[in-house]
Amino acid sequence: MAAEFLDSTALRAAVAPAGPGCPHCAALRAPGWESVAAPVGEPLLACIGTLRDPAVDEPTVLERHAPGTGYWHARARVVPTHFPYNRCTVWRCPQCRRGFLQYTEAGGYYVDHRLRELDPTLIED
Ligand SMILES: [Zn+2]
Repeated sequence: MAAEFLDSTALRAAVAPAGPGCPHCAALRAPGWESVAAPVGEPLLACIGTLRDPAVDEPTVLERHAPGTGYWHARARVVPTHFPYNRCTVWRCPQCRRGFLQYTEAGGYYVDHRLRELDPTLIED
């Protein structure tokens, strides 16, 4: 089954405010993007949807950042229409609903799984 597409409004509504999490998920720490050895899945996190718009054939690789931030920044804006958010799946802790984003960066010679906590206040339309 394909993951449900979430727009920015649905994304904000789907997750709890940013915080330290609960005993189930507190070990996951990724205020900015972190490389992880493998995608994080169940039972730690549950997949609740995707930010990849099924109406867009080739998601843009353009990024959008506020001055003073960048891709790896802990306060980088989450812009679902821009890279890398436009190819992320959305996950959350089944206990406290803390949200996470994940995607896989694939270069010519490497595959890198990336994880970031989702702070709903950073989401931009
Ligand atoms: Zn939790």
